[in-house]
Amino acid sequence: MHNELNLHPNIPKFLAQPKRMLINGQWVESTSGKQFETLNPATREVLTKVAEGDKEDINCAVQAARKAFAEGPWSRMKPNERSRLIYKLADLIEQNADELAQLETLDNGKPVRESRYVDIPSSCEHFRYYAGWVTKITGETFPVSAPGNFLNYTRREPIGVVGQIVPWNFPLLMAAWKLAPALACGNTIVFKPAEQTPLTTLRLGELIQEAGFPDGVVNIVTGFGETAGAALVKHEDVDKIAFTGSTEVGKIIVGEAKGNLKKVSLELGGKNPNIIFADADLSKAIPAALAAIFFNQGEVCTSGSRLYVERKIYDQVISAMTEAIQKIKLGNGLMPSTEMGPLVSEEQLKRVNDYIEIGQKEGAEIYVGGLQSDETELSKGYFVKPTIFTNVDDQMTIAKEEIFGPVLSVLPFDNTDDVICRANHSTFGLAAGVWTKDVSKAHRVANALESGTVWVNAYGLTDAASPFGGYKQSGIGREMGSTALDLYTQIKSIWVNID
Ligand code: NAP
Ligand code: MG
Repeated sequence: MHNELNLHPNIPKFLAQPKRMLINGQWVESTSGKQFETLNPATREVLTKVAEGDKEDINCAVQAARKAFAEGPWSRMKPNERSRLIYKLADLIEQNADELAQLETLDNGKPVRESRYVDIPSSCEHFRYYAGWVTKITGETFPVSAPGNFLNYTRREPIGVVGQIVPWNFPLLMAAWKLAPALACGNTIVFKPAEQTPLTTLRLGELIQEAGFPDGVVNIVTGFGETAGAALVKHEDVDKIAFTGSTEVGKIIVGEAKGNLKKVSLELGGKNPNIIFADADLSKAIPAALAAIFFNQGEVCTSGSRLYVERKIYDQVISAMTEAIQKIKLGNGLMPSTEMGPLVSEEQLKRVNDYIEIGQKEGAEIYVGGLQSDETELSKGYFVKPTIFTNVDDQMTIAKEEIFGPVLSVLPFDNTDDVICRANHSTFGLAAGVWTKDVSKAHRVANALESGTVWVNAYGLTDAASPFGGYKQSGIGREMGSTALDLYTQIKSIWVNID
C-alpha cells in the first residue's frame, strides 16, 4: 500500500527499525527497554515502534545537556559558528523536504500538500530567521547615577538546560519554533515530542547530527507526557520549560516547575473569534473562514472556531459556506488530491465526536457535517466530516471549549459593541479575525479584542519575525520574532568601577 502512494525511498528504511532516542549524540534504547507504537491515523496501521523513555532517560538527557552547556565545544563556540550550524540544519531540512513531508503526513494524517508546502518550508524559515539572530544578540549600557564612577552594561546570556515539550498538531514546525531560538541563544535542550507523532523529530535528530551540532546540545527523549514529560518538568537541573499544548497540562506544568523555580513559557489553547461584518469583502472572508477552521483538520490552536457573522449577511454566509464544504475532499493525506485528512488519534476522534454530541444535546443544530457513518471507506481512519453548527448560544459547551477538530459554531451578531463583548467573553485569548472594509472600525475592534494576535481581513498567518502567544489562559510569553530571545536568555547587569 505504501508503494502505491509513491513513498520516498528513505521512508521504508527509516521505518524498518524501531526508533531510538538521541542522548549525548548517541541513538539509544530506553533504559527500561520499553517501546510504544506510532500509527498511521488514515489506516490505523502501525508505522513503527519507538523507544518509551521515562524518568531515568530524562535524567541521562539532562546530564548530557548540562555537560554540553557547561563544558563542551558548544559553550566556547563563537556566535558566527553557532549561526552557521543552524543555517546548515535549515539547508538539510530543505534538502530532505519531500521525505519529511511524507513522514509527517504518515504520522499525523495531515494532507501532504500542507506538510510539503506549509509545515516543512516554515520550519526551514524558522531556523534561518534565528540563525540570523545569533550574531545580533546584544546587551546595553546604562547612564547610572550611583555615587562613584561606573560603567554599567548588560549581557544577554543563555538560560542553560531547557526542557521543551510539544503537541502533535504540527510536529516538525513546533520543534522548529522551540529549538531554533533556544539554540540561537546558546542553550542546550532536552526535547520531548508528542507520543502520537515522534517520527519527524527523530529524523530531525539525524539531520542535527549531520549538520555537526556537538553531542548533548539537542537531546530527544520520546515517551509519554505523564512519565517522561512530567520528569522533565520536575527535574531540578532543568533551568526552563517551554511547552505547547493544552491549557490543562499548562496549569500542571506551572505547579510542577516550582521545585527549583525554573522559568516557564506556555503556548496553550484558544477558542478564537473570527468576526465578519456586513461590509466585508465576502469573496475573501468566506473562503478564509473555512480555511480558519478546516485547515489541518481544525487541529490548530489559532483555529477560527467561533465565527461571528453580522445578522444581515448571516444566511448568505451560511449557505455559501455549506456549498463550499461539500466540495472538501477527505482522504488519506498522502494522496495529492486530499484536502482534509484524518484526526491524529482514536482519542482525538472520540473527543471531537463527543463534542458534536454535546452540541446537539445542548440544542445547537448541525447545519452540515456531523458524525461519520461506520460504513464508509473513511471509517478505516480517524475521519470527521467538516461540521457547522448553527443555533449556537455563547454559553454552550461547543462555543466555550476548545474542540481541536473541524467543528465550527456560526453565531449571528447585531452591532460592534455586542460582538466585541461576546468575542472577549472567553477564558482564552490567543487569536482573532476581523473582516470589514471600514478602516476605523477595523482598528477599533482590533484594539478592543483581548487576544495575542488579531488578523484584519486575513486569518491564520504566522511568521518567524512576528511575536506569537496568548492573552489570559492561552499562555505565558511570546514566541517568534525578537521576543523569543527574551524567553531563552537572561540578563546580567555588570558594574565596573572605573574610578
Ligand atoms: P497535551 O496533553 O497538552 O499534550 C501536549 C504535550 O504535553 C505532549 O507532548 C504530551 O505528552 C505532554 N504532556 C501531557 N501531560 C503532561 C504532563 N503531565 N507533564 C508534562 N508533559 C505532559 O495535549 P493532547 O492530549 O495531545 O491534546 C489534548 C487537547 O489539548 C486537544 O484536544 C486540544 O484541545 C489541546 N491542544 C492544544 C494545542 C495547542 O497548540 N494549543 C496543541 C495540542 C493540543 P504525550 O506525548 O503523552 O501526548
Ligand atoms: Mg502516529
